[in-house]
Amino acid sequence: MPTTNEQRPTARIGYGFDSHEFRPGIALKIGGVTLPHGKGLGGHSDGDVLLHAITDALLGAVAAPDIGALFPPSDPKWKGADSAVFLREALKRVHSAGYGVANMDASLILAAPKIGPHAAGIRARVAQLLGVPADCVGLKAKTPEGLNLDNAAVAHVVVLLEKRGDSKKARKKTKTKKRAKKTK
Ligand code: MG
Repeated sequence: MPTTNEQRPTARIGYGFDSHEFRPGIALKIGGVTLPHGKGLGGHSDGDVLLHAITDALLGAVAAPDIGALFPPSDPKWKGADSAVFLREALKRVHSAGYGVANMDASLILAAPKIGPHAAGIRARVAQLLGVPADCVGLKAKTPEGLNLDNAAVAHVVVLLEKRGDSKKARKKTKTKKRAKKTK
């Protein structure tokens, strides 16, 4: 049974995980930012491990199909795609479900390059994509101590959504209510 605007929870949490392997000769994109490095992350799209994990966290928060179901790697349409496209679609689904992003937090696990010098740029770009202030985007980077993962990049993301109360359905309902009042 679909829930009404009043029945929907005021907040929802989403979690996303992704990993990609480093490959020589391709650009390294993390959080929508191109980082100077000898190797990039392989994948069907641009391999942006952080944007993929954020996309899955957003989709998971509203119980939507995951990134692989919405943008199958088997579809040539997504070859080399800018992962911002995936994030925007996930955000659209969050908004049409009646929610907005409150904040997000991410952990990146990779041996190199060092993320520290690029963290502010990545947070700013992710904040821009999510439509939130940069202080609502957390980003930590860790090296994969004891994990034998030196040739991979891993991202874990959590997002918190807040009910906006202005979903398409809710707006329609309000309009109908107002109209009904007028005709009374
Ligand atoms: Mg991925």
